Amino acid sequence: DIETAIKVVIVGNGAVGKSSMIQRFCKGIFTKEYKKTIGVDFLERQITVNGEDVRLMLWDTAGQEEFDAITKAYYRGAQACVLTFSTVDRNSFDAIEKWKKKVEAECGYVPSVLVQNKMDLVEQSVVNKEEAEALAKRLKLRLYRTSVKENLHVDEVFRYLSDKYMLL
Ligand code: GDP
Ligand code: MG
Repeated sequence: DIETAIKVVIVGNGAVGKSSMIQRFCKGIFTKEYKKTIGVDFLERQITVNGEDVRLMLWDTAGQEEFDAITKAYYRGAQACVLTFSTVDRNSFDAIEKWKKKVEAECGYVPSVLVQNKMDLVEQSVVNKEEAEALAKRLKLRLYRTSVKENLHVDEVFRYLSDKYMLL
């Protein structure tokens, strides 16, 4: 039988933790100094969803998002999307809808999920719980609150997305 492989794009403003999330999920590590480039286009990890093997290819933007210069190749063939903002970066929250539209313009409908990262810094939060929930509701997206640093709910994000993709 043919294995399922899913290209996942991880979008959101710079510094919200996208590269860290990819590295955490695929390699199981977190580094504070982790820099923009991972040297490859994507990292992958295989998981089992409802008894089926799924290969997730997580595409990194290599920092181009900061210059609004993400190439078409990044979005090409994307089958799922993670929209990410940071608990301590208001602009990143305000930019979510723009990112969603961008992905839709390039890829059409793809199963997506909303992620509020850096929940370990919730004491310094600039986005309150109700606002985040309201955005998720308005965009009809499931919201996950993660800490890539503390490895909180990261696996759940990709499990949910795989599940959603398989149900298409
Ligand atoms: P990207 O620009 O979206 O790819 O963000 P990076 O993955 O490069 O992360 C930006 C900074 O945030 C780095 O210093 C990371 O170590 C840090 N970071 C990422 N995730 C978390 C998290 O969950 N909590 C905290 N406190 N820092 C994080
Ligand atoms: Mg990055």
